[in-house]
Amino acid sequence: MEQPKAKAPYSLNSKKVADTTMEWLQKRGVKLNEIAELVMLLQQKYYPSLTMEECIHNVEQVLSKREVQNAVLTGIQLDILAEQGLLIPELQDMIINDEGLYGVDEILAFSIVNVYGSIGFTNYGYVDKLKPGILERLNDKSVGCNTFLDDIVGAIAASASSRIAHRKQAEREKERGEDTMDTDR
Ligand code: MG
Repeated sequence: MEQPKAKAPYSLNSKKVADTTMEWLQKRGVKLNEIAELVMLLQQKYYPSLTMEECIHNVEQVLSKREVQNAVLTGIQLDILAEQGLLIPELQDMIINDEGLYGVDEILAFSIVNVYGSIGFTNYGYVDKLKPGILERLNDKSVGCNTFLDDIVGAIAASASSRIAHRKQAEREKERGEDTMDTDR
């Protein structure tokens, strides 16, 4: 009798997950500089000298976290399955119509902002209401399904904003020659 093939041990390469996340954001039409523009909009009034380079850098740092990558990939996958009509019919209807009582897209986005604390949380609520820039485009219901992606993009921008706020505080403390605690978010 033929021996059953031994199952290869589970191993997932972190870089592969990170690269796939970037690849799928791009495939879904999301550019990092558009997320950075949201960050600029959120933080400019607090830090007038903030540059786009800093915003892009902070977006990249947020995207380097596995929790964030997991949320991005899960959300994009659900949007794609909804576009293909492959979900359980009732769930399919709710996701494709971005049903008002369906809030799992927001909950998934919270798994991103939760990494960055309460500033991320309030900024997320703000961009979610206002829907500026790329968020307006992602909310256009006539093209594809971005029920999850719009919240994810808002959450990445909000998290990058929170990261900037914490970093700036650390910079100020360092400038004053004080000990600082908040450098490795
Ligand atoms: Mg949504």
